Amino acid sequence: MPTYPLTAINVGSFALGEADKVITLFSKERGIVKAVAKGARKPGAKISGKSELLCVNKLLLAKGKSLDIITQAESLETFSALRVDLERLTFGLYFAELTRAFSTALEEDCAFFYELLFAFLARLTQPDSIPGLLAMEFELALLQLLGLRPQLEVCILCRQPLTEYSISVFVKDMGGICCQSCADRHGRRGPNYGQIREYGPRPERSLTLDQEGEDYPLSGTYITPLVWKLLVLACARADRVLAEGGFPEAERAKKPSEIQKSALKAARKILERYLEDKAGKRMKSLDLLESL
Ligand SMILES: [Zn+2]
Repeated sequence: MPTYPLTAINVGSFALGEADKVITLFSKERGIVKAVAKGARKPGAKISGKSELLCVNKLLLAKGKSLDIITQAESLETFSALRVDLERLTFGLYFAELTRAFSTALEEDCAFFYELLFAFLARLTQPDSIPGLLAMEFELALLQLLGLRPQLEVCILCRQPLTEYSISVFVKDMGGICCQSCADRHGRRGPNYGQIREYGPRPERSLTLDQEGEDYPLSGTYITPLVWKLLVLACARADRVLAEGGFPEAERAKKPSEIQKSALKAARKILERYLEDKAGKRMKSLDLLESL
């Protein structure tokens, strides 16, 4: 049977038969590969620990009829610090779920994305990293690679540079932020307008945008200056990670204040919904994160 080597991160798995597992691997060499780990569900089996989600292994695979079979596995990294922290582990699983959702588009640049995912998981294990912020950086790095990053610097309608005084709503379907004067010009204010707290998630309102002479309703999410700044800063950090292929050694994230925490929640919601929209499906790990 012909064999081939792979270096891969486990990004998904399901049970097969009595004792086997099918593992979804994101490999440096070929992007997504599904392979069978024989006996992985038998207690005490050598492969069982290595077949856990988010583990990184050097593998040897044998060509199978439908799925290839893992014949050798050498552990490179287990990210053990994630396994004692449910919140961090769930964020790691979210990164894996996003990887699976966009795997086809990531195939071409798989070696680069493998390193990126590895770097983000490693950073997630460090206690001074802030998982919610890190998740935004991962999302924005991913969106950049996919060529789908939302427009945060100029208004999606009039193309004027945005400032903290001019931002109004994030319009997911148009992939960016609409300025106040465009929102006033084209938008219809919803019933909740004016009753909204200064910080934190605001209710969505319906916005009727006049595009190419046609009126069609689009839903927008209010964005506060703080939420906008978080998104812009996360973009800048994501770009730095993309340019340097990893995180600078001395980076120390500052603990967010209560106000920043609620803005972070709002900013994350915007990106999560945007990504789910692009993926065309709900991310299950987000439900788990929500329940923590
Ligand atoms: Zn505008």
